[in-house]
Amino acid sequence: MIKIYDMNEVRDQDIFLRHDAVKDVSQPVAEIIRRVRAEGDAALYHYAREFDKVELSALAVTEQELDEALSAEEPEFLAVLEQAAKNIRAYHAKQKRQSFIMEEKEGVILGQKIMPLGRVGIYVPGGTAAYPSTVLMNAIPAHIAGVGEIVMVTPPGKDGKVNPAILAAAKIAGVTQIYKVGGAQAIAALAYGTESIPQVDKIVGPGNAYVAEAKKQVFGQVNIDMIAGPSEVLVIADGKSNPAFVAADLLSQAEHDKMASAVLVTESRELAQAVAQELERQIPLLEREEIARASIDCNGKIIVSPNLEQAIDVANRIAPEHLELCVDSPFDYLSQIQNAGSIFLGRWNPEPMGDYFAGPNHTLPTSGTARFYSPLSVDDFIKKSQFSYYTRPALEKEYRQVSLFAKKEGLTAHARAVDIRFDEKEAGK
Ligand code: NAD
Repeated sequence: MIKIYDMNEVRDQDIFLRHDAVKDVSQPVAEIIRRVRAEGDAALYHYAREFDKVELSALAVTEQELDEALSAEEPEFLAVLEQAAKNIRAYHAKQKRQSFIMEEKEGVILGQKIMPLGRVGIYVPGGTAAYPSTVLMNAIPAHIAGVGEIVMVTPPGKDGKVNPAILAAAKIAGVTQIYKVGGAQAIAALAYGTESIPQVDKIVGPGNAYVAEAKKQVFGQVNIDMIAGPSEVLVIADGKSNPAFVAADLLSQAEHDKMASAVLVTESRELAQAVAQELERQIPLLEREEIARASIDCNGKIIVSPNLEQAIDVANRIAPEHLELCVDSPFDYLSQIQNAGSIFLGRWNPEPMGDYFAGPNHTLPTSGTARFYSPLSVDDFIKKSQFSYYTRPALEKEYRQVSLFAKKEGLTAHARAVDIRFDEKEAGK
């Protein structure tokens, strides 16, 4: 059963399960990466046998497999996927940045050029569940940024196939290539390339401890989005909240993973007790009862705070991945929230709206990293180059200042590169 605490009984660092509580898999992951670099595709077939219990004949998903998956999917679900994709596209289209040029001084042109990454890799977890929403949330921002090639990797099932819902989402989201490979070996293949799988510039997407560790180890060779820790939600609810709704919201997080943390902070002791009872009523109704039970009993908490302001202070200190504000006038508090991945405002906006459908991204910073990381966005799939141009008269006006600056740093060749252009003897005229 979930435990109820007074605010002064819980330290901030104990509110959510800590990142370092996840088991250390650095050694086996380093060995998997080494083997994929040395043996390429052969290592990928080997690990598919070892971990996914399947003998694959090819790694790439064919057009035929894609078409079969689309026709196997229920039309009603395809329509939902299409609508979710439309909402996600509309939201992320607002994030597009423009290049700029400035000509504020005569003879000087400065600018910044925005370009999409050339090729990105998207990891879509297979393993214990299928996540077509992950495909949409990762591929659509890449597509909007204008990324040329979007390469998806996902573990095959024991039948050697990829879940049809994942393939349907990939088709809708504009994924260009799909490979049946999962775990750390998939990350290694994307980072270094194999005979079948092209090397990418950046790898995004969630996964288990092996995937997260592999992303950490290949960072530098390629860019990565972030290291996802266990998922977490902080629900702040006032005394008028419906305990059944609050319990359901906590459970929607708890069912993800035994390591997920679902925490309620409320000013009402009555609500705290009612939510604890509701959790006991609702947990046995869930298909993933065992996972939700483990998450709620081990990592779940209800914290009674003296008032809403102090509840918000807690949120700002622990920077939750998801923050729900179940209060009457949530916009009154929005300006006070400094650290949170995604903020769900109001009583009618449960977290699954953001997981699947509303439009904002569901790939969010965990483990307190919302202090300095942002949700996945179109920005993750662009890079910038800057440019500058000087005419001779414009340089003539400024070169002495640059020369002085360079000499102050002891870099006389730098000084010379500007001075020489205005020294007739030195310029060889
Ligand atoms: P996964 O695809 O991440 O991992 C499956 C792969 O792990 C296998 O293919 C295998 O290669 C590898 N593996 C398994 N056991 C191994 C071992 N002993 N040694 C080396 N490699 C091994 O799928 P999963 O395991 O179901 O995990 C999915 C994770 O993704 C969960 O933690 C879930 O919470 C998370 N997730 C997060 C989000 C999000 O947006 N934050 C969304 C979806 C899923």
